[in-house]
Amino acid sequence: MSLPMQPRWNGGAVGGVRLTGLLGYPVGHSLSPAMHNAAFACCGLDDWLYVLVPTPPDRFDRHVRTLMEAGFAGWNVTVPHKQRMLAYLHEMSDEVRAVGACNTVRVQDGRLVGFNTDVVGFMEGMVAAGSIAPGAGAVVLGAGGAARAVAYALASAGHSVLVLARRPQQAAELAGALAPFVPVPVRHDRLERSILEAGLADAQLLVNCTPAGMWPHEHQTPLPDGTRLPAHLLVYDLIYNPRRTRLLRQAHAAGCRTQDGLEMLVRQGAAAFHIWTACPPPVAVMRQAVAHLSL
Ligand code: NAP
Repeated sequence: MSLPMQPRWNGGAVGGVRLTGLLGYPVGHSLSPAMHNAAFACCGLDDWLYVLVPTPPDRFDRHVRTLMEAGFAGWNVTVPHKQRMLAYLHEMSDEVRAVGACNTVRVQDGRLVGFNTDVVGFMEGMVAAGSIAPGAGAVVLGAGGAARAVAYALASAGHSVLVLARRPQQAAELAGALAPFVPVPVRHDRLERSILEAGLADAQLLVNCTPAGMWPHEHQTPLPDGTRLPAHLLVYDLIYNPRRTRLLRQAHAAGCRTQDGLEMLVRQGAAAFHIWTACPPPVAVMRQAVAHLSL
């Protein structure tokens, strides 16, 4: 994959530029600068800029304070800081409260307001993939940050959700954390073949929220050996690098509909763009800016 030169914030003067950026570690692989800077240019927001702010855990506190002092309009937050960001927020959306993770911050009159645009990004990716029946069952693989956002989005939309993780305790914690916020409890279990196949028999959707299959581990799949996928499934892989993962190839071979993670990336970015600028996001431009960058 060849990435274009990406701007890096170096702590210098910011002049009249409206700064936004990505705070995480590592961030060198991120497609967000290309996506957001294309959106700013398209909307005539020539004084806006999106930069990478590589932030190892021991620099997190210092960088948050420095971004505020430097007059950033807002920023995205990624691994490993999405949970830690909550402690700095003056206000947070319902999604942040439920999911326990913040991926977008807006600075408003010196106050930090937190959002989680992964939730809406995932659901808009679902719309792009084609619908599943109202209330249909969904199986979510993995129990990390993305799985929390996905399980919350699906359960809030009335779907019956089963979360499977190789560490069942992590899945149980996810279900417990979401319980006060969702209409129907999220079910949880161990990720193993028989449990997965039984869950899929009653489901219309399988979502991969693990990094299994992501570059540079494209040979991996989250499916236990020998798992059979029923052809009626929509299989949605959050991974966008590569877009055609081993899981999606397995799903295609089984006759399933598939959806990769690029649309979610674009839609969560579009929601963040709107939160910062109040302008309608140029979704097609944002999609075009990143589609050729993922493998
Ligand atoms: P995370 O917090 O690290 O959680 C990863 C989860 O996957 C954990 O439950 C982990 O279990 C499990 N896992 C890891 N490797 C596995 C394997 N080989 N087999 C089975 N389970 C495995 O990561 P995250 O932030 O949730 O992100 C997960 C994936 O979603 C990443 O690939 C990320 O790029 C993608 N994502 C995409 C978008 C988008 O916009 N398209 C947005 C967010 C995330 P252990 O704790 O036991 O390792």
